[in-house]
Amino acid sequence: MNDIFDVLIVGGALSGSRTAQLISNYTKNILLIEDNKNIGYPCKCTGLVSWRIKKYLPFLPKKIIINTINKASFNSPDGTNFILKSKNPVYVIDRPGLDKYIYNMAKESGIKIKNGEKFISYKLMEEYVKVFTNKNVYKTKILIGADGASSSVGKSAGLKYPEKYLIGVQTTTLGKFDNIELWFGSKISPNFFAWVVPENKNIARIGLATYRKSGNYYEDFLKKRIGKFEKPNVGGIIRFGIMEKTSSERVMVVGDAACQVKPYSGGGIIFSLISAKICANAAIKSLKEEKFDYKFFFDNYDKVWKKKIGNAIKRGLFLSKILSSRNFLINKLFKIGKIFSRFLNKIDMDLINIFI
Ligand SMILES: Cc1cc2nc3c(=O)[nH]c(=O)nc-3n(C[C@H](O)[C@H](O)[C@H](O)COP(=O)(O)OP(=O)(O)OC[C@H]3O[C@@H](n4cnc5c(N)ncnc54)[C@H](O)[C@@H]3O)c2cc1C
Repeated sequence: MNDIFDVLIVGGALSGSRTAQLISNYTKNILLIEDNKNIGYPCKCTGLVSWRIKKYLPFLPKKIIINTINKASFNSPDGTNFILKSKNPVYVIDRPGLDKYIYNMAKESGIKIKNGEKFISYKLMEEYVKVFTNKNVYKTKILIGADGASSSVGKSAGLKYPEKYLIGVQTTTLGKFDNIELWFGSKISPNFFAWVVPENKNIARIGLATYRKSGNYYEDFLKKRIGKFEKPNVGGIIRFGIMEKTSSERVMVVGDAACQVKPYSGGGIIFSLISAKICANAAIKSLKEEKFDYKFFFDNYDKVWKKKIGNAIKRGLFLSKILSSRNFLINKLFKIGKIFSRFLNKIDMDLINIFI
């Protein structure tokens, strides 16, 4: 049995490294494989995250937090605009820096890591999983897919993903910026929104996400907001919804690979950190009890993470439907929002996740 890993994790970004680090408290017989040689790149994130990140990563180095903001302006299609202030701040973080920080903790925990190695497929054997990469064949008791929104592990396990996904594009640019700006409407970013997230008064991350033609909308928005086009330096897929199954016999998926994402904002950092802990606990319990069947993982992983963040995702799906509605409805909602903004100010900016 010595040549069999206890756990093989695919993906060394946020979810994969965090899950590996947490399981390493129980066993070091873990292999983490990551396709990219440079952790955190290419970046697929705006890096806007609630203060709750400190709850899940209490020793987060200060240098990872680039800006602290507690004001956001909401802009409707007809030009109605209001500002909300948050009691608690949101952070603009160095996202590649966050991935590297967690990856280094996993590395220092004594597990085995292979960079530049790509998961291809797996085969379920009687007593282990046979994992095929572009370079090797491995054996593992448990396989965890933390390989993002287009998860190859999830697909190999036959998990069903929401078909529709948003494509996000963003650049970092110079200008004059004060607070976070969110821009809504079918002409700006149909079904989602465009954002301006300042790193400081003179630099901001500007982008948007749409189901199609995101490049065209991105170009138009940049010209409207800063008067010129700039090539994007961030891009990626946002897939959300509640998946029926995020595990199978000897297999779990976590983070974007399990659509653990806020549907109304595309935010996945906090949900990934929460789910990585639940995934790690399920893996440790499975190894201790030597139970690897689907029901075990469904009860100890799927059910547990859905209990923790399932309702927040459902509330988010409802909110995302409202934000996808026609311009006249969004305009109406903004007019109401403006009237009640004094009261909304008292609510946490991360309001939809207030119970997490
Ligand atoms: C444009 C955009 C903006 C966003 N902004 C925010 C934001 O402001 N705040 C927020 O909270 N969330 C944001 N998100 C979402 C957030 O980025 C994700 O939820 C988060 O990155 C999920 O982390 P992950 O580790 O699960 O997946 P990923 O970050 O996608 O990491 C997956 C890892 O797996 C590796 N991998 C993939 N396939 C293989 C393979 N076959 N073999 C080996 N390795 C593989 C990849 O190289 C990668 O390192 C944004 C997303 C997008 C697209």
